[in-house]
Amino acid sequence: SQVFLNGDYMPMADAKISPMDRGFLFGDGIYEVIPCYDKKLVGFKPHIARLTDGLAALEIANPYTEQQWRDICLTLADQNPEPNLGIYLHVSRGTDSKRYHAYPDDIKPTVYAFTFEVPTPPVADISKAKAYKVALEQDLRWQHCNIKSTALLGNVMHFQQGYKKGLNETILYNQQDEITEASSSNVFIVEGNTIKTPPLDNQLLPGITRLLVLKVLRQFSEFDVQEVTFTKETLLAADEVWITSSTKEIAPVIEVGGHAIGDGTIGKVWLAAQALFSQYKFEE
Ligand code: PLP
Repeated sequence: SQVFLNGDYMPMADAKISPMDRGFLFGDGIYEVIPCYDKKLVGFKPHIARLTDGLAALEIANPYTEQQWRDICLTLADQNPEPNLGIYLHVSRGTDSKRYHAYPDDIKPTVYAFTFEVPTPPVADISKAKAYKVALEQDLRWQHCNIKSTALLGNVMHFQQGYKKGLNETILYNQQDEITEASSSNVFIVEGNTIKTPPLDNQLLPGITRLLVLKVLRQFSEFDVQEVTFTKETLLAADEVWITSSTKEIAPVIEVGGHAIGDGTIGKVWLAAQALFSQYKFEE
């Protein structure tokens, strides 16, 4: 399969970027990951809207229109024979002649995109679902977590702490013990008939899966869906915990920081939510 670099499609081995690119030297860029199943994109419009917002926050002009981005995604998907793909889009500020924190006005962004195979999306079937066990740590990242920056070292360090213990993710809480998100996912909890996720602010990424999950639950279910702050103690006492992301969809979590969640098995509300998500995820 081919990759996209600055307007051209080519084999990955031919894609060359200068070591003076500010994406390499400073992590100065924005990225997206868009799921694509059988050539159908999930949440394309909100993904591109978030990319546009992130670029605006960094004062990088968006190099393409929404339609041009769609063409790039679909061209890359066409060239990859796998049915289940993630499409990675990356815009860095570009290449400078010197390494200097302030950025020049006339710099041309570097645009790179490629596809990668993702697992078959979860089906709403408790006997087939992967049950996640995750770590729990204080969030030690920066205060612009709403920006989908390519500077992911803080996230990588948190993820690695869980990974080293054989866990699948790391859920994070702030200095007030409030849950923010996880190192590469958003967090939901279930308490009886109520489903809660932290409200959007600078402490978490506005996840597109989070957005779509809220939308389908509000539109098609009777659950009481709330965007509300909750603490790690509340999370540990919840009936169910889920983490959401483009590549995981809704992942049921059965253990957090060594504590079993609920009865330690995948919950019924997860089943209902994943069934709705599977049914409606392609609607824009
Ligand atoms: N939070 C962080 C820190 C992430 O990196 C991601 C995705 O990779 C998410 C949340 C989930 O976002 P989305 O649902 O848009 O994939």
